[in-house]
Amino acid sequence: MPALPFPIENRYYRYSTYLRQTFGEKVYRISLDAGFTCPTRDGHIGTGGCLYCNNASFAADRSEKLKPVRDQLVEGIERSIKYRKTKKFLAYFQAYTNTYGSVHKLETLYRSVLDIPDVVGILIGTRPDCVNNDILTLLHDISQHTYVSIEYGVESVYDKTLLWVRRGHNFDRTRRAIEKTKQFGLHVAGHIIFGFLTETRDEILQSAAILNNLELDALKIHHLHVVKQTVLADLFAQSPFPLFTEQEWIELVCDFLERLNPNIVIQRLVGDARPGTLIAPRWAMKKNQILQEIQSELVRRQTHQGFRLVPAI
Ligand code: SF4
Repeated sequence: MPALPFPIENRYYRYSTYLRQTFGEKVYRISLDAGFTCPTRDGHIGTGGCLYCNNASFAADRSEKLKPVRDQLVEGIERSIKYRKTKKFLAYFQAYTNTYGSVHKLETLYRSVLDIPDVVGILIGTRPDCVNNDILTLLHDISQHTYVSIEYGVESVYDKTLLWVRRGHNFDRTRRAIEKTKQFGLHVAGHIIFGFLTETRDEILQSAAILNNLELDALKIHHLHVVKQTVLADLFAQSPFPLFTEQEWIELVCDFLERLNPNIVIQRLVGDARPGTLIAPRWAMKKNQILQEIQSELVRRQTHQGFRLVPAI
């Protein structure tokens, strides 16, 4: 078996390890809201957004006028230096779909943060159906001078789920976007959500092999949670459906990590929601404890990420 890219005592390839390997020290992400919307919100595909999504549950509050991203970033850096003692930063274009605009607008936006001292790169969250060759060429050009990573909302590898959550694209679109992005030499991360009623536990575990086949550099794993002001919240109120318990989630994540390529950096192992927005499940509020329990379970099993790699399908 080839050497693992992470210390075995960590059990999986932590993002903090990758950032230290890449930048030589701790790096902190500063989340930005550039005022974008999404095609599932502005009427191009739909108006209600994806079934589970309420950006206010993790991104900035839009009830007040948004500041320019440069100002958001400078303020975030000042806070981070004060409370975390971090010296390097990544500008994280996180809210909504951050490639949903003209190339000219995007270039002005992305380049507006690059000359801020100690900003070592940009992270761009987007949808697989909202990139094209012009945008990827722009990002490739920027990546010649600084670190660039694109984060795609994969959400699920199953079309039945993507249809149910009103995503507006299928999995083939995701596959093609990731392939194309890798052709431009860019770092690619994916977000995946586990817990939809459309998928069995076996199907969730099988998705590891499908993701292994995508050339993903990094992955964020979220548990399905119900947050306020979403279609999912309405459905949950009408007829509560089962969500993963804490113990089920810990075991599922360990089973999944054992099947995942160990070279894929793990950026997240549990979803996040602001306390005031979360309906269920509540256990994710103890995020650090859950992460510790996942680690302990892998130690108990004497396994690690990639321990049970299965051939790609
Ligand atoms: S999940 Fe992403 S694409 Fe869907 S509504 Fe939310 S921000 Fe927009």
